[in-house]
Parts: sequence; C-alpha cells; structure tokens
Amino acid sequence: MTQAIRTTCAYCGVGCGIAATPTGARSVEIRGDEAHPANGGRLCSKGTHLGETVGLTGRLLHPMIGTRRTGWDEALGLVASRFRETIDRHGPDSVAFYVSGQLMTEDYYVANKLMKGFIGSANIDTNSRLCMSSAVAGHNRAFGEDVVPATYGDLEEADLIVLVGSNTAWCHPIVYQRIQAARAARGTKLVVIDPRRTETCEGADMHLAIKPGTDVALMNGLLAWCHATCTIDRTFLRDHVSAPDGFWDHILTGHDVRTIAAVCDVAPALLEQFYTLFAGTPRTVTMFSQGINQSIRGTDQVNAIINVHLATGRIGKPGAAPFSITGQPNAMGGREVGGLASTLAAHMDFAPDNVARVGRFWAAPAMATEPGLKAVDMFRAVEDGRIKALWVMATNPAVSMPDAGAVRAALAACPFVVVSDIIADTDTGLHAHVRLPAAGWGEKDGTVTNSDRTVSRQRPFLALPGEAMPDWWIVKEIAARMGWGPAFAFDGPADIWREHARLTAYQNDGARLLDLRAHAAIGNEAYDAMAPFSWGGTPFADGRFPTPDGRARLVPTHQMALEPQTRDWPLTLNTGRYRDQWHTMTRTGLAPKLARHREEPLVDIHPRDAEALNLSDRDLARVRTPQGDTMFRVSVSEGQRVGEIFTPIHWTDQVSSGGRTGLLPRPLVDPHSGQPGFKSTPARVEKVETEWRGFLILRGQEPVRPPCLWSTRVAVPGGTLYEVAGNGDPARLEALLPQGERAEAVDASRGTRRVAIIRDGRLSGVLFVTRSGQLPARDWLIAQLEAEGVGGAVLAARGPGNQPDKGAIICVCFDVGLNQIVAAVRDQRLVDVAAIGKALGAGTNCGSCRPALANILAQTPQEILHAAE
Ligand code: SF4
Repeated sequence: MTQAIRTTCAYCGVGCGIAATPTGARSVEIRGDEAHPANGGRLCSKGTHLGETVGLTGRLLHPMIGTRRTGWDEALGLVASRFRETIDRHGPDSVAFYVSGQLMTEDYYVANKLMKGFIGSANIDTNSRLCMSSAVAGHNRAFGEDVVPATYGDLEEADLIVLVGSNTAWCHPIVYQRIQAARAARGTKLVVIDPRRTETCEGADMHLAIKPGTDVALMNGLLAWCHATCTIDRTFLRDHVSAPDGFWDHILTGHDVRTIAAVCDVAPALLEQFYTLFAGTPRTVTMFSQGINQSIRGTDQVNAIINVHLATGRIGKPGAAPFSITGQPNAMGGREVGGLASTLAAHMDFAPDNVARVGRFWAAPAMATEPGLKAVDMFRAVEDGRIKALWVMATNPAVSMPDAGAVRAALAACPFVVVSDIIADTDTGLHAHVRLPAAGWGEKDGTVTNSDRTVSRQRPFLALPGEAMPDWWIVKEIAARMGWGPAFAFDGPADIWREHARLTAYQNDGARLLDLRAHAAIGNEAYDAMAPFSWGGTPFADGRFPTPDGRARLVPTHQMALEPQTRDWPLTLNTGRYRDQWHTMTRTGLAPKLARHREEPLVDIHPRDAEALNLSDRDLARVRTPQGDTMFRVSVSEGQRVGEIFTPIHWTDQVSSGGRTGLLPRPLVDPHSGQPGFKSTPARVEKVETEWRGFLILRGQEPVRPPCLWSTRVAVPGGTLYEVAGNGDPARLEALLPQGERAEAVDASRGTRRVAIIRDGRLSGVLFVTRSGQLPARDWLIAQLEAEGVGGAVLAARGPGNQPDKGAIICVCFDVGLNQIVAAVRDQRLVDVAAIGKALGAGTNCGSCRPALANILAQTPQEILHAAE
C-alpha cells in the first residue's frame, strides 16, 4: 500500500494538514492529518473533496505563445527578452509582477528577489493585497512589525471569543469547529459582530448586526467603556505602550453607549451587554477577517481593535490577543518574504539601512529603494501605459480585482502580458501573450505559513503533468536569461528556504521577531521531513515590541462619516465567499459535490427591499453600480440588513453569463494599506424578466455556451449542469444536445418542453424548459448520467418510487438536502444537530454543514413541531 504523504490544504489560511494517499496516476485519497497542529485531523468540505480536483480537466500543459504551443526555451527566451527590452527602454518601473497567496514561500522569495534586487523596482504585489494588507499595516503601526500575536491554541484558552467581520463558519470552517469545541469544553462565550446574520451567528451567544463601516466607533466605544469601568491595565500601559498626545481625550469624548449605539444602529442594551462581557473577561481573543480588512478605513479598524487589547493588557498572554485570520493558504508566507510592494523582504521595510542590508545580502546590482505600486495602482499603471510588461502568477485579476472590467481592459491594452497558471483558460489568461504551465497543488514542493505563523510543508504526491514546472523554477530561468544566473542558481526549494532563513537572521540582533536562523543550514533531508513549526513563540510575552523604543503604540482612530445612500444608488453592496467555493472556482469548480451547496450566484436581499423592488426568491435581477452591472438569482434573506445586499466573489465568464461580482466594487483603497473596500459599494437592483427558464444536463465536462440571456455551469457527477433563462424560442438550446435517440414531451398549456437524448441505454443529455410552471428537481436526472438502461420515461424526471425533491443540498459529503432535513426533523422530532446526524448522516463527516443544520433547527422548530402534531 502506498504511504500517505503529509502535506497542507490548497485553500484557506487555516492551513490544515492533509494526509494524501495516491491511488492512481491522477487520483488521491484525502484524510485530515491528525498530527497537524492546525486541524488535528479535521477537514472542511473544501479540503475533504480536494481529491476530486486533481484531474487534468482544463489544465495548461504546455508553454503557449498566443494560441501556439511552443517549448520552454522559446517561451522563456521571449519573456526574458521582452522584459529586458522594456526595462532598457523605459526603466525598471515599466514592468511589474502580480503574484499570489497560492504560491509557495520559496516561489515568492525568488520572484521578490528578482524584482526588488535585480530588476530594481518594487513593482511586485500580491493578491493578498485584496485580502489582509490592512492587518499588515495595522500590525506595523502598533507593534513595529507585521506579527500576528495569537495562535489557534489561544482559542482553546480564551473565555471570550469575539469574531469581527468574519463568517468563520463558511470561510475558516476548521477554526470555527475549534471555537465550537472550546465552547463545549469550557463554556467559552462567543460574540459575532457582523452586519449580516450568517451561519456563524447560529452558534454564538450574541450577534451585533452593526451598520457596515462603524467598527471604529464600536471599538472606540469599547475602549471608553473599559476606561470607565477601570478595566484599563495601567501598569502595562506605563511600561510597554505609548499613546500620542490627545489619544485619551479623543476616546473619552463622545463614545458613550447611547451615542455609539446610534452610530452602529444596534440596541443600546445589547451594546452594553457586549461591553460588559468584554470588560469582565480578561482572556479574550478578538478575531477579525475580511469585514475589517476590505474597507477603505480597514487599517484604522484594525488599530481600533488592537488599541483595546493593548490598553487592557490582553496581548502576549494565553487566551488573550487580537487575531487577524488570513484568507489564502500562503498569504503569511508572502508577507514573510516581502511579497507586498510596500515591504522589502524578511519583515523589513524600505528604510535606507534595510535597503542597504538586503542589497548586501543579495549582492544585488539594482536594489529598489522605495515601495512599488500596490495592486489597484499597479493596474491603473497598466491602464495608462506606465507599465508595459506584466507577469501574473497564479491569480486571476480579471475577475478578482475591484472594477474588474477596467482591469480587463488594461490587460487587453498592455503590450506584453505573461500568465503562469495551472489552468489554460482563465479570464486573465485570455489576455496573455505568453502562458506558462505551472505546478499545481499535489505537484508543488515548498512551504506555506498559515494564519497563526505555523510553517508547514506542501509536498508533491503527483507527477508534474505535461510540461508543467514549479513557479520558482520558471522565475529562476527567466532571471538566468536576463543575465543573473549565479544569484538564482537554486537547485530546489530547500536551497531557497535556506537562503530565506539566512536573510531573516542576517544582521538581526533581535530587532525583528521573524528570525529563522535555526533553518539557515538545514539539510535537504531535514527540509523534506520538516514538521510544522510556529515561529515567534508567544509574541510580546515579555512586553517588548519590535519598535525602536521597544514599546507598542496606541494609534488614534476616528470613525469616518458614512456615505449616504442616494436615490440613484439606494443600496449598499457587500461581497464575500460561499462555504464550498474558493476564489474564482478554477479548482473547487471541478468538484461535483462542492457545486451542490450553491449552484448559482445569488444576490441576497432583505424581504423589505425585495418587496419594494417586486422581487421574489429565484427571480433574476441585475445588480448595478457606477462601475458596471451583472445578473444574479435572487435570494430573499432575513439575514441581510435593510438597504444592504450581498453577492459572492466566485463566478467568472468561464462558467456563467453573469454573477461577476468583481465588476461592481469601486477601486477605492485604504490610505495606509492600499487594500480595496470591497464591502460597501453604492448599488441598485433591477428585476430582469425572462419568458422562460430551465436547465440543461450534458454528459461529460466539455463546456458549452448556451445561447440565452442567463446561464451558469457547474460540474455534477458524470456531467455538467447548466441553469438557463431567456427570451424567444428556447428550442435553439437543443443544438447543444448530442446526437442520439430522442424522447420529447411538450405541454403547450404550461409552456413546457422536455427533451432527452439517449444512446445505448445511457442518458447523454436533457433539456427542460418552462414558461410558467415548475421545474423538477435535478438530482434524479443527474443520477441517470451514471445509470444503465435509461429510456424515454426519463422525461418524468423521477424514478418509479416517486422520490421527493431533496431540496438544496446542505451536506455535500452525504448529499443530504434541505427538504430531507426538514422532513426528518418534523417526522422524527429531531431536536439537535447530533440527532440529525444520527438520522441522516448530515454533518457527521467534515462538519461544515453543522452551522446550517443549527440554523434549520433554529428557524423552524415551532412550525415543524406544530406540523407533526
Ligand atoms: Fe482547507 Fe478547509 Fe482547512 Fe481551510 S479550513 S485549510 S479550506 S480544510
């Protein structure tokens, strides 16, 4: 039997350990790694289903120049010569790299070294800019270094956990499971601060649905409350923290409970309850995520949280810290090597002595001396022609950047675009002059750092397919062709890791906490066998901070006036993730099970707003902002605040005719971090009328583009499901059906058309359309793709047993739907999540759906119990 390879999950910043056992050339069995400190064997739905994503569907397997396949030599030669020519003619700032938190630390290190030490520009920025750069700026302002002062272990030692701007149950599911386990074990209190009522709130003691953008007022009010209730740690402040003149005068003026409750639009009694709980609980962890970071005042929001922890001395102690949790698997590793345009390397900035130090270490011929262009400014520079050659590595800015339509136009106009990626056709890759096939998860070899500073190995267990190569190798080869071969003569990731470790230790007399000197001479075998480790111990346990005077800083933060909603733009758009999808779905979109949770992009809207706009569940609607517009299905939700809507970030032109959220947000950024404010864009919603709607199921995964107003595509077992809607004659969609024996049923009175194509007793495709009636559930029809002896009866869309519609899939591991759960709760009088698990299996594998099960129980017990009588 093949041995399991210990590696790390491809997705979020929780950084779960995985034991991967190859079962074939491109197949693998996935288990959680019980020995990994992040997850102790648990995996969420995305991690659990990673095995479904390692096939070669859609892979970029060969270097391409335009649409022509070429060899590495020609492709690398072209990239190196075009970058060299551009630099020679227009200077080093005329080129840029846009990289990604998906890269290994070693990949990042080599790319950063090339740009900042040899090309001589700092125009390398990462998609982590969109994710947590406000946390970086906040840490630097308060602590003097970008150090996360908490670990996951603190969650198990805290008596109170406050989640701010974080749908942890969906976005960091294993952290959420650790929180719930801590609650069960020691009664830890949980408070959620979020404008939306998400599934994270289901397991909480308190939810404060504050008005978006009022976090600074909330935290300043909390600090004023702590001052009034003598919760300030005066000794810690005296010995270890500096406050600028006027700091306390500002906090103690106008931050009373009534005023803050009015600003935040929450009940004063609820606010006082939260403040009292916080003030009375020394062991408190405040965990924050994109709701704090993705704001044009994100850095102040971060510092308002840190201020409270510094002032109450709740830092550097077990179970007490502010805790930024990152989105991407290696956002932290990128921060460590200087993958952001605003940092140099190894947690050093662009101070002249740092530039000189790194220059000496690299023996660099052309050190960058000042920060480069951050992501939004970088694409503006592409747009206005200042940047003439751009290399995008492992990311999809044509979808993920704010005002993505403008980014796409900039890419189209850029004289030279290189994309290295694992996927052949991304929305960004369509604009590339050269595409380079990179190694994917399961093939990569390197390290990643998760949200709590744990460094883990990602180990390969699959052969590199086609001509794909690791990112570090691609960068090294370009550097060599540009004339810097000796400085990039790395023979593998261990070699790069050693150099990175040496740089963290170089002339570091304790001024920088990031110090990996113990790894500076690590052997290749020891690198291969490296167990997860966390650097930095318990930061600030001795009260010393990496500032020139060793003291932390309280940073004055002021609540900014909120932008009023207007007649033209009466709603505010918030954006974020779905539980079972990741970024632009290039990987999760390959996993049929993951698609079942949400098959289409939805716009969530409060019932009052929906009524005013004449919208019902499942209508089509166009969301419009000053930047652009795109369509979504409507989901009417009490979880939204009135006046606010929410859309997911995942859908692209590759899979949908609409739902491209990236088109909508403004490219406005936080002044300190440059992070865009994705969470509040003025918007409006308009109903879209269509004459018919339906679905198409096709065998296989070769994509097609349905000729209609609305379509979305998801992988299903054995095939592909398209949801469609449009006007005119839907019969034109029949051209997408394969050849074969045809069965057909038409009901003119209801405007329904059902067509099935059967070949050799197997279903090849179906098209179901209705003008006014209901459509059947898709599950049974999808299951027929893998059945034998299918006949014309398939048009009834159900088997002989007349199985009921499962409803929306809640548990993707066991394929359990909402209708099944509601029926079981009603008929079997199930009263808790464990009972549902026992009856249906739901929630007993990865556990990602447990908050949803709790939500179902919380929302419907009276009605259900009543129905059972
Ligand atoms: Fe992967 Fe889920 Fe763990 Fe995140 S929480 S690292 S997505 S298994």
